[in-house]
This record gives sequence, structure tokens and C-alpha cells, in this order.
Amino acid sequence: MPRQKTSTKKPVKKSITKKPVVKKTSTKKPVKKSITKHVKQSSVPGSYSTVRGMKDITPKDSIDWMTIYHTAESIAHAYNFSYVETPVVEHAQLFVRSIGKGTDVVDKEMYLFEDRDGAKLCLRPEMTASIARAYINHGMQSLPQPVKMWYWGSMFRHDRPQAGRYRQFHQFGCETVGEHSPIVDAELISVAYNTIRDLGIDAMVHINSIGTTEEREQYIIELVGYLRSKRSYLSDISKQRINKNPLRVLDSKDEQDVAVIQEGPQIIDWLGDASKRFFMSVLEYLDELSIPYVLDSTLVRGLDYYSDTVFEIFPEDKEDKSQGALGGGGRYNPLIQQLGGQDVPGSGFSLGIERIMIALKEKRDKEQYVAPQLGGLYLAQLGEQARKRTLYILELLRREGIIVHHNLAKPSLKVQLEKANKINVSHTLIIGQKEVQDGTVLIRNMESGIQEIVDQKKIVNVAKKLLGIQK
Ligand code: AMP
Repeated sequence: MPRQKTSTKKPVKKSITKKPVVKKTSTKKPVKKSITKHVKQSSVPGSYSTVRGMKDITPKDSIDWMTIYHTAESIAHAYNFSYVETPVVEHAQLFVRSIGKGTDVVDKEMYLFEDRDGAKLCLRPEMTASIARAYINHGMQSLPQPVKMWYWGSMFRHDRPQAGRYRQFHQFGCETVGEHSPIVDAELISVAYNTIRDLGIDAMVHINSIGTTEEREQYIIELVGYLRSKRSYLSDISKQRINKNPLRVLDSKDEQDVAVIQEGPQIIDWLGDASKRFFMSVLEYLDELSIPYVLDSTLVRGLDYYSDTVFEIFPEDKEDKSQGALGGGGRYNPLIQQLGGQDVPGSGFSLGIERIMIALKEKRDKEQYVAPQLGGLYLAQLGEQARKRTLYILELLRREGIIVHHNLAKPSLKVQLEKANKINVSHTLIIGQKEVQDGTVLIRNMESGIQEIVDQKKIVNVAKKLLGIQK
């Protein structure tokens, strides 16, 4: 669920928002395009770089990456969200109709292409519209409501790459479709906030309500009148936005604009009683849950499908918000109907995984390095027969859910013991020629150096005891 943001780039005209040109059916055979003719090959083998704005997740990054994944997965399951996966490629119109024309995401950032059949497709820039599409396509309105779904996947936006802003990035998100209730919004904010908190990052929720579509329309009339009266004080880009997408002026970080916006009309004053009550209930639930939040009257997330609650989550210690939010979301009551479904309400959030990776790294850099706790086991081997037996024992342990460090490619026992020391395991299980013959394993306590011999048949129970899984 993208949020509109301030950009200084000149708008590029794209034809996707115009009526599609209908091609006449031709009887001619399609001309086969050869990709190899058009792709400029590098003359130096192995010198390819990643595409601008896209990056690899290397084994070094993957420890944090997987930690975030498992945290997200476990919290989503704990709150009874079911996993969904939708295709990365969608019809471009899906996002034009949902996110709306006049937004950066649709007008400038979508990865658009025609496939070989001439279908106008895109790489998804966000997931909410895809999930709404899936909800309609699979008749999920006939399931018990609400339908709670979570996802993890890559999104694509052709934006200007900078710190924390990529062209391919990843989101974890949750959507609750089929219920218009403040407790749904509070639950989603709680899941988003607690995912970040469980990762050890202090965060702050920024929250606002933009009411119903009708209330917002009234507010926009008032806002446009006000902005026109202050036109001469506004930055050039905001002047241009008054007519095109006035809500985006509220997003401006320009000092001149901020001063004007602060004095201007606030959307909260345009909400009717029902919208106000709804919003107050969301805030009461957050108080109950001790979730820290600030009311942010300029937070509007400027997309066509939002209504009522909107929120974003920032690292708590960051005054400078230019690197962007860790995540955001809101209620999207009009969306399902906008996409041709029934009048079904929905609400959701998405967190940016790359932004969380940055926050985790910054946190680690700030804190003093703490040596990892003594723990875990290393399985070492010496000699070809022992190596074979080690492979067998590894599988035996894995089937019992026991994961041990090992390196079958290193024949030297010295090297293996050095590694075991470095990663601070409590014990190393050693199998050499003699142990293979005797059917035993030598167990070395890495702290005291004391060694004992145990029967290979007992290895699973011994490993469990050493790991504290079993007494
Ligand atoms: P949005 O759908 O724009 O509200 O985005 C939700 C979250 O995804 C943001 O708060 C960011 O954490 C992350 N995000 C959005 N765009 C990008 C991007 N271009 N690169 C990296 N993360 C992004």
C-alpha cells in the first residue's frame, strides 16, 4: 500500500492512463523478435552488475533477512493471518484503477511492459490491490468474514534509487478484508508495531483519519481554496500540485510549504460524527495496548483507495524522516468495489524489509559488540570413512530437529576445531577412524577441554542433553 511522496522529478507522460489503443487483427505471422540482437553483451565474462536500484541478498545479509522473515511469519500466524502469494506480474489496469491516476506510483514509477501477446502488464508496485483482486477472483466474500491474509514478497517501483529506496524492494504485510471495525485497525497496527519491536527496534506510530470519500472531497474543496489564497508563499512544485493532487502538498518537506500547511485546514475537522467516533476507538485500543503514537494531521497517504484510519511507523530515535517510514497502512473501504467486487471493507499494512534491515544495522552499530553466548554443537570429522559417517549422523540429528555446525569440505581437524572455537559452540562432536570402527563419538567440552566417549547409537539423546532440549 504505497504512500504518495514528494518528488522533484519532472513528470513523464505514460500512455497507461489513456485509453488503450486497440490493434487491428492481422493475418500476418508474428515476427519473432530475437532478444540476443538487442541485448548488449558485456565483453568481459562475469562483469554483469545488478540492475540499477536492485540488490542481492547475500549470505552476510541473510541472517538479518531470515530473522525478519521468521519474526513476521510467527506474528502473522499468532494473529491468525493465512499466507497468500500472488503473481509478481499483474495487469497494469489493476493498479491504475485502485491506486489512481495522478499518483507517482501509477504515473511515473510502474514497471510497464507489453508481453508477446500485446497485453499491458506491470511488475506489481504494491500488494494491496493484488490481494483485493484475489479476494474477488476466488469468491472470498462467501467465506466467514473477515478474511485475514499475510504476504511477503518483492515490489517494483521505478523511483530514483537512494538510501532506503530501491527499485525492487520487499514488503511484509497483513490485510483484513470484510470487516469495518476499529479493533481491526488496532490489531493491524499492533501486528505491524510489534513485528518491529520484536526485532528490537524502537518505533513510533504516526496516525490520522481521512474519513469517508465524501468527507475527504469536502475537505479537498476547502484545502484547494486555502492553498490558492497562499499560492505566492508555496514552492513551485506545490503550486503545480494544487490542482493536480492537492493532498500531496501536505506531504511537502519544503520549509515554505510546511509553514503554510501548519496554518491550513486540517482534515480531522471535516470528519462526521461516525468517522470521529471510529477514529477515537482506534486510539483507545492503542492506548490499551500501550502502543506509542502521535497524531499527524498532515498524514493522508494520498491514494484513491484509502478511507478512515491511515498510519505510518518510523524509527523512534530519528528526527529526520527523509529516509522514510519503516511501514505504513490504512483502511481501504472503497477498494474492493473500485475493482468490480461487492461493497466490502478492508484494512491493512505493509512493512519495508530493506528499511528494517537498515534500522537493525544502525542499532547494532550503536550498541557495543556483545560476544555470542556459548552454545550449539559442532560436528567434526577426520578421514574419509568418518566423513561418510558424519553425513549420516547429520541427517539422523536433523530428523530429530537438531541442527549442528559442520564443514564436510574441511579435512583438517585443526581447522574445524578453530572454527568451532570461533563460533563459540559449547561442545564439538568428533568422529575419526577409531570412532568409526568402535561405533563411538568423542565429545569435547570446548571450555574445559574435557573429553568423553559415547556410543553413536546414543548420539541423538546426548546432543539433546548438551543443547538443553532434554534433561
Ligand atoms: P508504501 O506502500 O509506499 O506505503 O510503502 C510501505 C513501506 O514499504 C514503506 O514504509 C517503506 O518501508 C517501504 N518502501 C516503499 N517504497 C520503497 C522503496 N522504493 N524502496 C524500499 N522500501 C520501500
